[in-house]
Amino acid sequence: MTTTVHNLIDGQWVGDPQAERRNPARPEELVSVAPSSGTDAVDAALVAAGQAQRAWAATPAPTRGAILLDAADLLRSRQADVARDLVREEGKTLAEGMGEVRRAIDVLRYFGSQGWRHGGDVLPSAVPGTTVFTRAEPIGVAALITPWNFPIAIPAWKMAPALISGNAVVLKPAELTPVSASHLATALTDAGLPGGVLNVVHGKGSVVGDALARDPRVGALSFTGSTAVGLGLHELLHARRARVQLEMGGKNAYLVLDDADPVAAARVVAAGAFGLTGQACTATSRVYCTPGIHEAFVAAVAKEAEGFVPGDGLDPATTMGPVVSVAQLATDVAAVERARQQGATVVAGGAEPEGQLFAPTVLTGVAHDADVVRKEVFGPVVAVIEVADYDEGLARVNDSDYGLTAGICTGSLAAAHHFAEHAAVGVVKVNRPTSGLDLNVPFGGVKDSSSNTFREQGPTATEFYTWSKTVYLGFE
Ligand code: NAD
Repeated sequence: MTTTVHNLIDGQWVGDPQAERRNPARPEELVSVAPSSGTDAVDAALVAAGQAQRAWAATPAPTRGAILLDAADLLRSRQADVARDLVREEGKTLAEGMGEVRRAIDVLRYFGSQGWRHGGDVLPSAVPGTTVFTRAEPIGVAALITPWNFPIAIPAWKMAPALISGNAVVLKPAELTPVSASHLATALTDAGLPGGVLNVVHGKGSVVGDALARDPRVGALSFTGSTAVGLGLHELLHARRARVQLEMGGKNAYLVLDDADPVAAARVVAAGAFGLTGQACTATSRVYCTPGIHEAFVAAVAKEAEGFVPGDGLDPATTMGPVVSVAQLATDVAAVERARQQGATVVAGGAEPEGQLFAPTVLTGVAHDADVVRKEVFGPVVAVIEVADYDEGLARVNDSDYGLTAGICTGSLAAAHHFAEHAAVGVVKVNRPTSGLDLNVPFGGVKDSSSNTFREQGPTATEFYTWSKTVYLGFE
């Protein structure tokens, strides 16, 4: 079945669907046709958002929250269908797709319930007879630009804090995954979100995304995607002093110490490296092992890699879905080929892809400055490198342009604490995969992984979408 996707502007489903998306597991299957919008659609969405925002901000926060909670219930009742569509357009396994839709549901619930708490603080004043309080004021219109790899969860975790704070939103979803974003928007409109409060404009990043970034009516732009695009947006938004939040690429490292169990460590690393077909910003892609465990770990992680069953995500036997696109597949293949040229040994995977199926790949014998160690691949490829000791391992973990997540496998609480303090990343995992995050805690990176300002998710996520006003209330 082919889904016809439309833009959502001022509460109406509009636009001329032209852009085709095919199932990465079955390229003969047309999954969707979506608009490839121009700047006129961006303008219409911004007009609608600007008009709707005042009334939305004046709506009591618990009422705004009730709409998010109702949307969560609707999405829950549609979870299986939405997950199947997500798998068909993005390529995850069905279990991963169900988990992602579940995450979107939980995010709506979390921020929906914040409607009962949203506001500011009351504080004592030094001036007699005076009360001081703060108000969390909405920015106005927020633009959200999202990638394909979590096509419903990322739009949800940006949209929910924006909406509960009284902002209107224009979402620009990734071109490869328009259907998932449409399901999210449909749940919200079906739950009673007023027209214009949420607008969705499909199309190219260089057209729709660029127009949003340049438009002065956008007061805040939250972007998740590649570092190259993100840094360009940063310049544009900074030039006009608008708020900008960027979550970008990663080169996430794991340090495996001699005192770890090699088989348990291999499971942790494999889950982080190969889960979600390695297409997570938090995926493990470099592993440093101390000498006593290196050999046993390499054997164990190669065995884990070989245990994955690549296939169509809707097939229950599949444990790894296809690579999202032919272009991404070419990047994965080229990265392994380049690593080989730079001296790497392939100990698992590395075979010719079958269609868009790419076997999980483990590399050894890689130099610290090899491309596969320095550059993001965004595929199921991991390089394992021996280091002399913990200190060298920590230094190697931190020797990267990126700083999203890092992990350590160890039985030593002292080593774990030291690592947590000194790893130059936004998220540290001890004996747990680098991918997989809770929604009730802040998420973000440092260095080229993030704008490193406002964090997404958790109780502070609304800070990006609000500004603080301080009120002195004097009654003698
Ligand atoms: P991408 O940067 O190509 O695209 C992301 C979004 O930006 C898309 O909606 C795209 O249309 C839009 N875009 C592209 N060019 C634009 C432009 N000039 N102006 C405005 N918008 C533009 O990234 P992708 O290929 O969709 O996603 C993969 C990347 O996302 C990886 O680098 C990955 O690490 C990163 N990512 C990061 C996180 C995180 O939280 N740090 C999460 C998921 C993905």
